[in-house]
Amino acid sequence: MSRYAVTNPATGQVEERFETFTDEQVAAAVDAADEAYRTWGRATTIEQRATLMRKAVASYRDQRQELATIINHEMGKTMDEALVEVEFSAEILEYYADHAAEFLADEPIDRAAAGTAFIRHLPIGPLVGVMPWNYPYYQVARFAGPNLMLGNTIILKHASLCPKSSAAMERIFLEAGFPKGAFVNVYATNEQIAKVIADPRVRGVSLTGSERAGKAIAQEAGAALKKVVCELGGNDAFIVMSTDDLDAAVEAGANARYENSGQICNGAKRFIIIDSLYDEFLKRFIKVSKERKLAPLCSASAADGLAAQVQAAIDDGAKAVLGGTEHDGAYYPATILTDIPAGSAARRTEFFGPVAQFYRVSSEDEAIAVANDSPYGLGSYVFTTDSEQGLRFADRLESGMTYINESGADSAELPFGGVKNSGFGREMGPLGIREFTNYKLVTEA
Ligand code: NAP
Repeated sequence: MSRYAVTNPATGQVEERFETFTDEQVAAAVDAADEAYRTWGRATTIEQRATLMRKAVASYRDQRQELATIINHEMGKTMDEALVEVEFSAEILEYYADHAAEFLADEPIDRAAAGTAFIRHLPIGPLVGVMPWNYPYYQVARFAGPNLMLGNTIILKHASLCPKSSAAMERIFLEAGFPKGAFVNVYATNEQIAKVIADPRVRGVSLTGSERAGKAIAQEAGAALKKVVCELGGNDAFIVMSTDDLDAAVEAGANARYENSGQICNGAKRFIIIDSLYDEFLKRFIKVSKERKLAPLCSASAADGLAAQVQAAIDDGAKAVLGGTEHDGAYYPATILTDIPAGSAARRTEFFGPVAQFYRVSSEDEAIAVANDSPYGLGSYVFTTDSEQGLRFADRLESGMTYINESGADSAELPFGGVKNSGFGREMGPLGIREFTNYKLVTEA
């Protein structure tokens, strides 16, 4: 039976099933992406592509209610969060429509020898995007926006939970006037995707998902000598050293932990609090956590998996000072773990749901040591009234992003990505259009 289905996490009901593609359908999608690359991606100007992109942006906005309803049913987020995601996706696509010409302008080189030289930014070909369910539109916009503006074409393999949102995006790009194959959705198996990655016409792969998927896809891409961008899991530290407004810091922490019911790669997952503030911060965080109304996780099995992780932490000696393992289907309560012993796997594992870990530290060095004791390195958050100290943290924290005195800063112009097992490459901002570019050197004597 096809894995592609809409199963409403709020009810557990399968609402719609979608057939997995046959090998012939997958092959036709690759043919179409290649054809669109050669006849459209290589043949149109940035301005022509921007015109189409702006039509797609308008459709995201016009259809926001319908698009939001789809993901509310697919993966359970609230309508409010879904509407914010649709708008953010539109903003990302618009950002690249507005800025691609500037980002892709020829770069002159001051040549030592006589003559001229410059770098021209050209597309490289069809790309595969393997995307996760947690932000079904936003994750795709980060990848598709810059690459369509560059002239690369997209073969989308979305999460099996997201067959309807992926089809909606394909329809929007087609209706906006992008040619067939510029953005093509496939309901493919992992084996079929491996063949697509190996196809010589396909020139790159972008994966957003788990470390496990990253290892599988990066191996397949490596075996075929394809460039790969990996946006993987995180276990972000939220460090509080000093603050003039403890309530605001608590609120920022709770937002960074509970957005999307905690199913967020750069969510604050480990709260590392200086001794003098620890008790009061924790007390207020518990209070705020109790007041949060959380949407269901993406599935009941995801909630069961999270409960098993919490139980393992408790078995190791951690204390659940709020919540715990009890949950109702896909609904999981806000949970806070303290006293997680050194050596417990919980300290180094991503909890993809509303579970916050708390650590008490007595110095800057100890905060950094605890924060860096992680295989991951996606984001990090630091609260301090000392801006020099904030910058020291930014230098010393092993992460791709450090947010000082704020959370929820994500925006189209700010690059996003990690180090260590959180992956490699960047999306969004000027860097996001540079991943799958042929930096063509052109010289003239
Ligand atoms: P996942 O299980 O890794 O799935 C992500 C995507 O990869 C899905 O489309 C999945 O397809 C596909 N996939 C998995 N193994 C594959 C294989 N061997 N070949 C081809 N495709 C494969 O991750 P998830 O549970 O959806 O998402 C949660 C994870 O994503 C968390 O770790 C989170 O931190 C991370 N994430 C990272 C970022 C970032 O920007 N760094 C953003 C969001 C999420 P199926 O659905 O069909 O299995």
